[in-house]
Amino acid sequence: MKTQILQPNKYNLHLCAEEIRGGGLVAFPTETVYGLGANALDEEAVKKIYIAKGRPSDNPLICHVANAEQIDRIAYVTPSALKIIRAFMPGPVTVVLRKKNVPNVVTGGLDTVGIRMPAHECALDFIRECGVPICAPSANTSTKPSPTRAEHVLHDLDGKIRYILDGGQCGVGLESTIIDCENNLLLRKGGLEIEKIESVIGKLGSVSDSPVPLCPGMKYKHYSPDAEVILALPSLNMRDRIRQFYDKSPQKTVIITRGGDYGDRNVFDVGRSLNDYAHMLFDAFRTLDEQGFERIICEGVPEAELGAALMNRLLKASGGKTI
Ligand code: AMP
Ligand code: MG
Repeated sequence: MKTQILQPNKYNLHLCAEEIRGGGLVAFPTETVYGLGANALDEEAVKKIYIAKGRPSDNPLICHVANAEQIDRIAYVTPSALKIIRAFMPGPVTVVLRKKNVPNVVTGGLDTVGIRMPAHECALDFIRECGVPICAPSANTSTKPSPTRAEHVLHDLDGKIRYILDGGQCGVGLESTIIDCENNLLLRKGGLEIEKIESVIGKLGSVSDSPVPLCPGMKYKHYSPDAEVILALPSLNMRDRIRQFYDKSPQKTVIITRGGDYGDRNVFDVGRSLNDYAHMLFDAFRTLDEQGFERIICEGVPEAELGAALMNRLLKASGGKTI
């Protein structure tokens, strides 16, 4: 199968919607990362997602919708979900609710479904044009860094899908925050700051408060480049520790930094703000792999606001290897 990157004009959106209605897969941009979409109500189409990504079948998919009516059609909305929907959708947040009419293949056999409304014109136009909820994980090979440009999707899925809608680089760059609205628990830190969500629905519990595993995806390895990732925990002397560690590294090494001065050592500067860091992180991982680096040292950040999601991704990518 030949894979084409398409500009999201009216004609191409129609073409992609036809592909979805015919049981195919289409990759599309959102404000978080690129998604690999299928008609959520078509079991055979959904199975193709797991095959294309090499994703374990018990790792449920998030359903993407274009409006609140579509949420009502696939889930029972709780009071806390309603508050999140009103305050933050469209936006980088997913609510987990008791499902209606959604096949088990989408939800990994769970009786709940994750739902989100992406804040991206192209994604919303595409979902509207399809006329069905679109279930979509990130459009990468399982365990690789999530794709934030159409070229990343092509790199991982070339020959496996027909179309990639090109919406340029994703704005947020990290996956959505996931809230279990049945139990008011935070399941995954992500692109919408937890402080903002708690200001609307009150204090959330965390997954570790639950006796049963509620977020199956969290047990899998994620976000890793081929290079070894080392996470430098934030402290006053963090950059000194990084310099020393770099100088002792026998591998071809690079530092991902927020504007630090590392002399003539290799650096990839992601910009000063947490938003810039999130926006660039996965892109940096892919670029540095292509440039042949074997070890990437990442500057850590304080775990507040977007920093919480960033540190989660950095820790996962490092497999817990910190300095
Ligand atoms: P991804 O699409 O790769 O960002 O992964 C989606 C994440 O959403 C996975 O980690 C899943 O565990 C989580 N998820 C999706 N649906 C549910 C659900 N019904 N209950 C709990 N977690 C979910
Ligand atoms: Mg993913």
